[in-house]
Amino acid sequence: MDIYKFGGASVKDASSVQNVLKVLKLSGAKDKVIVISAMGKMTNAFEVVIKDYLSNSKVIPESLSEIRSYHLEIINGLFHSKQASIYKKLETLFEEIQNFMVHNKSNKYDFVYDQLVCFGELISSTIVSEYFTQEGINHTWVDARTLIKTDNIYRDASVNWEETQNRISKNIKKEHLYLTQGFIAGDTNNFTTTLGREGSDYTAAIFAYCLNAEKVVIWKDVAGILNADPRVFENPQLLHQISYEEAIELAFYGASVIHPKTLQPLQRKEIPLFVKSFIDPSGSGTAVSKGQTLVPAIPCFIVKKDQVLISLSSLDFSFMVEENISEVFRLFHLYQIKVDLIQNSAISFAVCVDNKFNNLEKLIQHLKARYKVSYTTGVSLYTIRHFDEGAIKSLEKDKEVLLKQVMQNTVQIVTKA
Ligand code: ASP
Ligand code: MG
Repeated sequence: MDIYKFGGASVKDASSVQNVLKVLKLSGAKDKVIVISAMGKMTNAFEVVIKDYLSNSKVIPESLSEIRSYHLEIINGLFHSKQASIYKKLETLFEEIQNFMVHNKSNKYDFVYDQLVCFGELISSTIVSEYFTQEGINHTWVDARTLIKTDNIYRDASVNWEETQNRISKNIKKEHLYLTQGFIAGDTNNFTTTLGREGSDYTAAIFAYCLNAEKVVIWKDVAGILNADPRVFENPQLLHQISYEEAIELAFYGASVIHPKTLQPLQRKEIPLFVKSFIDPSGSGTAVSKGQTLVPAIPCFIVKKDQVLISLSSLDFSFMVEENISEVFRLFHLYQIKVDLIQNSAISFAVCVDNKFNNLEKLIQHLKARYKVSYTTGVSLYTIRHFDEGAIKSLEKDKEVLLKQVMQNTVQIVTKA
């Protein structure tokens, strides 16, 4: 079997949904599980609704009506008849949302979030399923919450692999075509859980693992994975092959490739993952699989903007050694500061950090009690995997380099702005 995943951008309007069908017809509408995300930016829209609902004494928020109109417009573009059963199904789903809002007594944000945000995927997969039926595509719509079982850590649930394996093996038969939702799952009490934002890729990997799938294909609006972010770097090139390990490395340094959580089950069973363009489905795309580290073997550029470079030295010019360094790290951990790069010399210690949780000021105050501290905010951290001299030169041109660290496969450069 193959697992196909279509993200929000691939089902953002009527013509995108029609394109899903085209892609499917090209490769055969059977022996597949299709995983669908919420349409367009609907997960963000649901987040607004949830916030409104919890902050305004739990009345049904105005913002919900925008979600309805968005989906109605897509439905109007897809279905020939105003009598199509999708209109009734959409109403039923909105009734479920309102029922939950009226009867819910919980104030627990994470719990309420999951019970409501799941409708993005439920609506999306229902529309696509009804559209497939209209177009004569034989398939079964399945509720992912009944197959993927998790603990009850809402918004960041962990998969119960044994239970999930059992249910998927029992309910998904080879040869047939299934349509299901990404991102959402269910706990033992049948409440909805979710796997973390952008979790649909992970859903695809879970199905692939449990079904020993031949491959996973993630259909996107780009040709595949590039060696650099086109918004930041000139002339990015398509990568044809990346090993699992290399993909994990690239993700570690901040490339928006595939999340390691998604890769892990695939790597365990050596199931290849392809990232392909739904605009040009016959293009080769990128394979993440066992095999060569990187094809073509070219430098890969990653940038993290808005970092902070902190430099520390002891007040009495004594060496920065294990004792101080471990204390400094304890503070980073305490203030949830993510360290991206470390460089130390005898009397000073430099780190490039991500001020993700806005605790920088507190950290600096704390550090100043014991160290001489200087820091620069708004710096950029560039990483080049598989660098060569040319790659470093092109990057350093027109930039003020504050720090540079060369390792065997990786160079990291901190620059001003
Ligand atoms: N719809 C969810 C999100 O936007 C899951 C996904 O798209 O992967 O986070
Ligand atoms: Mg999405």
